[in-house]
Amino acid sequence: MRIDIITLFPEMCETVLGESIIGRAAHRGIVSLHCHQLRDYAFDKHRRVDDTTYGGGMGMLMKAEPIALCFEALCNMLNTRPHFIYLSPKGKVLTQEKVRELAGYENIALLCGHYEGVDQRVLDMYVDEEISIGDYVLTGGELPALVLTDSICRMIPEVLSDNLCFEEESHYSGLLEYPQYTKPAVWREKEVPEVLLSGHHANIERWRREQSLLETAKRRPDLFSRLELNEKDKKFLREKGII
Ligand code: SAM
Repeated sequence: MRIDIITLFPEMCETVLGESIIGRAAHRGIVSLHCHQLRDYAFDKHRRVDDTTYGGGMGMLMKAEPIALCFEALCNMLNTRPHFIYLSPKGKVLTQEKVRELAGYENIALLCGHYEGVDQRVLDMYVDEEISIGDYVLTGGELPALVLTDSICRMIPEVLSDNLCFEEESHYSGLLEYPQYTKPAVWREKEVPEVLLSGHHANIERWRREQSLLETAKRRPDLFSRLELNEKDKKFLREKGII
């Protein structure tokens, strides 16, 4: 999988992507991550990447031409057209399901907006979808692009030590994760739940499932209402008075 980020602040992205698990995955060649300086594609007299908005209003807008030139150069260089995503507060809010879908692409390009955003015409011409990382507004698309890149890369085989790392995590199957504990078994008089020390795998698995159900019902009724419950789950939740 290759991800190309088009941005006015490539160093900001490169610094983050060079660290920790994603940085190691890139170093090992499991994922290929590249940042492109949009200013390098501004060829007008003043090499401008932004300008005032037609119709008036506060702030500047990113110009269409440098973005088009950058994306076209990328397509030529890759010899293919990457799936092109504009990070935008107007986009569809990111979910784990969407991350899983995007992890299936070979090539993705991300456009980071800045200032008041981007000229609509280049979005209409080239962008395949707009993604938001939440219902709030940031100063630029770099942090959202990094969030998206991180979430996609960790689903690529071999980036994490085992697929179980993400398959058992919150949101993968619609549930939130069960509580977890590490050593020592007693910390400030608080004990780890006994079942986790029992070594009985089936009981541990059942306990974790039940805790996930409880966490999801308590914290995220919206997710809970969409769950497909089996008979054991229903019996447990009835006993707890949740359904
Ligand atoms: N004027 C735009 C609007 O009202 O929708 C907001 C522009 S914002 C200040 C500048 C850039 O930050 C956007 O072009 C986008 O790339 C990025 N951005 C801000 N909030 C975002 C969010 N929640 N999700 C994804 N990208 C976001």
